[in-house]
Amino acid sequence: TEAHIEAVEAADALNAYIAKTPEMALEMADKADAKIKAGEQTGMTGIPVGIKDLFATKGVHTQACSHILDGFKPEYESTVSQKLWDDGAVMLGKLNMDEFAMGSSNETSYYGPVKNPWRRGDTDTVPGGSSGGSVASVAGFAAMGATASDTGGSIRQPASFTGTFGFKPTYGRCSRYGMVAFASSLDQAGTITRTVRDGAIMMESIAGFDAKDSTSVDLPVPNFEAALTGDIRGMKIGIPQEYHLAGMPGEIEALWHQGIEWMKAAGAEIVDINLPHTKYALPTYYIVAPAEASSNLARYDGVRYGLRETVQGGGLVDMYEATRAAGFGDEVKRRIMIGTYVLSAGYYDAYYLKAQKVRQLIANDFKRAFEKVDAILTPTAPSAAFAPGEKSDDPIAMYLNDVFTVPASLAGLPGSSVPAGLDANGLPLGLQILGKPWDEETVFKVSGVME
Ligand code: GLN
Repeated sequence: TEAHIEAVEAADALNAYIAKTPEMALEMADKADAKIKAGEQTGMTGIPVGIKDLFATKGVHTQACSHILDGFKPEYESTVSQKLWDDGAVMLGKLNMDEFAMGSSNETSYYGPVKNPWRRGDTDTVPGGSSGGSVASVAGFAAMGATASDTGGSIRQPASFTGTFGFKPTYGRCSRYGMVAFASSLDQAGTITRTVRDGAIMMESIAGFDAKDSTSVDLPVPNFEAALTGDIRGMKIGIPQEYHLAGMPGEIEALWHQGIEWMKAAGAEIVDINLPHTKYALPTYYIVAPAEASSNLARYDGVRYGLRETVQGGGLVDMYEATRAAGFGDEVKRRIMIGTYVLSAGYYDAYYLKAQKVRQLIANDFKRAFEKVDAILTPTAPSAAFAPGEKSDDPIAMYLNDVFTVPASLAGLPGSSVPAGLDANGLPLGLQILGKPWDEETVFKVSGVME
């Protein structure tokens, strides 16, 4: 823990931590020592981790990196972080992220962008998003693991950009209690670690039923680490033909091909599959997610939490308007406007209802494919880490980065991103493994072979 507290300081230039908790960390480390002496050690005992700013941590900065939650320190702990502390893990601090987890480059945070420890020659690169602080802290050796959340790819895409292992479980596997809500039917907690084994240990710690989240599912949590047998002989791995995008960089195709070769060498059978509704996944996601966000973010009214901007001589509505105008960043405002539009009476059937139907078709595609295969292998993202500012003025270009991660989010499936190679500039690239609902073990097993 002491070494990590120093490492957090040394990694300051990354801007991964927006709040540091060294005193708490030392106290928690003492408790972990006592646990170890008493022979009560479990998987995460004494392991220093960072917590994405989206998870409520009692008495500690929790703002989902938004200005509108200024000064908010919750009275309660999120279930995911509580499970880590019950296991004896140690909190190093709160991690930077895109505001309300909306973004793919960590450039929308109120606390400024995060730097990727991996650089393209002399040029900085973005760490991906929204879990940019989580991946930068782990890749930069300033945490052994980090919590993260994935609504449309926010665990897998940044893991790909930083050569870390990202794991998003099945929707409902982890409790959302105490997670700042973005799009509730998609949001799912997960982990960023440097190895697959670390990911299995940390995931096992945070998973499990919680009566405080009505969408958490009451199923036993398997021993994920035990799934890492290295044996995938006879397993069927699906390759979705629709993921061969026109104009995709040759090195991404080559990486995917390399992954296929690794699977074959390990004794798995490669099966071509079709996910015909893939091309509708991005537009569907960018209707459903903003719709839910516009509803979830209605609670930030200047009365209940954080920032309040009043207007001289003005009334309540003026206060609402001034607070929301000052408190939300551009991307968040864009999502609220899109969401409000697609939910409005005149457009509900044309956009929101249609998107819900297409979402079901996308889920059905996966269901049919999983009748034939045990897991699916794809690239995680269509590019390596890009330069700051490269896409921040063009929302569509930014949204396109989620093309391979969003379909599984809409279907609620478990998935990982495994570091799989480097591009021509020496930047990391990840491959994505997707599994059947509740079959995280297969995702871990296949990930372990690729590592
Ligand atoms: N990049 C996607 C978005 O901006 C996904 C974000 C996420 O998974 N939280 O919505």
